[in-house]
Amino acid sequence: MKKVIIVGGGIAGLAAAYHIQRKISSGAPLECSLLESGNQFGGKIATERSDGFVIERGPDSFISQKPAAIQLCKQLGIEDHLVGTNPKTPRTYVYTGGKLVTMPDGLSLMIPTKFLPFATTPLFSLAGKIRMACDLVIPKKVDDRDESLASFVRRRMGEEALRKMAEPMLAGIYAADPETMSIDSTFPMFVETERKHRSLILGMLAKKKARHGVNSDERPANNYTLFMTLKDGLAKMVETIIEKSPAVQFQLGARVKFISNEAGNWCVHLENGGEQKSHALILATPGHTTARLLQPIAPDTAATLMQIKYVSTATVTLAYKKENFSHALDGFGFVVPKCEGRNILACTWTSSKFPHRVPQGYVMLRCYLGGALQEDVAEKDEQTLATLVRRDLKEIMGIKEEPVFCKVFHNRKSNVQYHVNHSRHIDSVMKNLERLPGLFLAGSAYRGIGIPDCIQNGNQSAEAASQFLAGKS
Ligand SMILES: Cc1cc2nc3c(=O)[nH]c(=O)nc-3n(C[C@H](O)[C@H](O)[C@H](O)COP(=O)(O)OP(=O)(O)OC[C@H]3O[C@@H](n4cnc5c(N)ncnc54)[C@H](O)[C@@H]3O)c2cc1C
Repeated sequence: MKKVIIVGGGIAGLAAAYHIQRKISSGAPLECSLLESGNQFGGKIATERSDGFVIERGPDSFISQKPAAIQLCKQLGIEDHLVGTNPKTPRTYVYTGGKLVTMPDGLSLMIPTKFLPFATTPLFSLAGKIRMACDLVIPKKVDDRDESLASFVRRRMGEEALRKMAEPMLAGIYAADPETMSIDSTFPMFVETERKHRSLILGMLAKKKARHGVNSDERPANNYTLFMTLKDGLAKMVETIIEKSPAVQFQLGARVKFISNEAGNWCVHLENGGEQKSHALILATPGHTTARLLQPIAPDTAATLMQIKYVSTATVTLAYKKENFSHALDGFGFVVPKCEGRNILACTWTSSKFPHRVPQGYVMLRCYLGGALQEDVAEKDEQTLATLVRRDLKEIMGIKEEPVFCKVFHNRKSNVQYHVNHSRHIDSVMKNLERLPGLFLAGSAYRGIGIPDCIQNGNQSAEAASQFLAGKS
């Protein structure tokens, strides 16, 4: 029997564990343990359920265009728990010049694909619109060097598109500074579109045409909306993985202090003094922890991983009585460009976007704060954050009511940042790892931060570990 140890019980480690479980179920002679330092599994995924409210502390949905998360839900038998965004209110707003302005219809991420809504939107000045339309004629970049999101958008669509759209929407997803975040590692589809079609607008229109019969970019042919979630919260995925992996030994409170390799076998040393040995080891911990664990055995790789930065964010969820609530909440919420000088980065109108998340008679909003551009905000204490958020909501949306609850969650140094040339550094990490047979890395630090990316990455490392062990036996 060959043994695999997985360190880290976030979604990447759990996906790896479930992959091994499926191998064991189909007869592979494997044993598997998953060691998690915290007191619950899920890592960044954490759902609170109380009195009919479903409150996400971290991630609240995932993109359906990357199939790994939906595929995992199907394998786990929880496909019927998947829910999409509310088709009745698909609008998103931008807070600009002191008011909420609708994002023009037909925007695909940030690229206009419909003429009229774009031409008539008050969101951009005439000069800004003309500059964005220049994308149609600007030649493509000749070299294939990575660049920042800001440099890419400025080059193709101009400064206004960057400030009012790309920075709050795209960099906002990553809680990142657009001036440092890598376009190759975050939105490779834009780079690919430029390479293939020269113009982003022409490329998006060509893609739209190819998807003939699909009525909007928000609704792909398979009937999943662009963002999907689970009825009882994303923790349902975590709970079901554990329930459906009886052959895996899951351990909480098991903090790994260091790892060593003894005669080709891996040894995991726990903070509580315990030790566990295995033939293969998957480290599914955040980049800085993985760096610390690798330091004694692979100092160069550890030094590269140490360069990957993490920033702090916070979420503030507020619920109100629906009766006489002063705002229509006729959309998914709004984003706030940094130049507006607010504390809130983005606000999701959760009860409009995912109506099943609140009991009858209530509405719920979730605000996102901090990130690379305003990390100091996320570091403030709970009371201060609640006050700042309520002040912003009053001034932006006119909300004066007392919330029935206001829950503040800190995500300290939780959001990984992919800086320019990130993928080159990761290539070198993976190459160096070949010198450590039986050791595999998984998680958001490497090739995608989204939940589907982490699941795919977890699956791939589990597959590589089981193939390594099959070769060994
Ligand atoms: C606030 C926030 C909002 C987000 N929103 C979205 C979203 O809406 N959609 C989306 O797709 N993605 C979102 N993301 C990104 C996504 O949630 C994460 O990238 C993903 O969940 C990370 O999974 P992971 O398994 O790589 O790491 P983690 O979830 O960080 O798991 C790592 C685990 O390792 C454990 N660990 C650490 N050190 C040790 C040790 N020494 N020994 C044992 N265990 C250890 C930790 O306790 C943790 O459980 C969001 C992230 C954040 C922070």
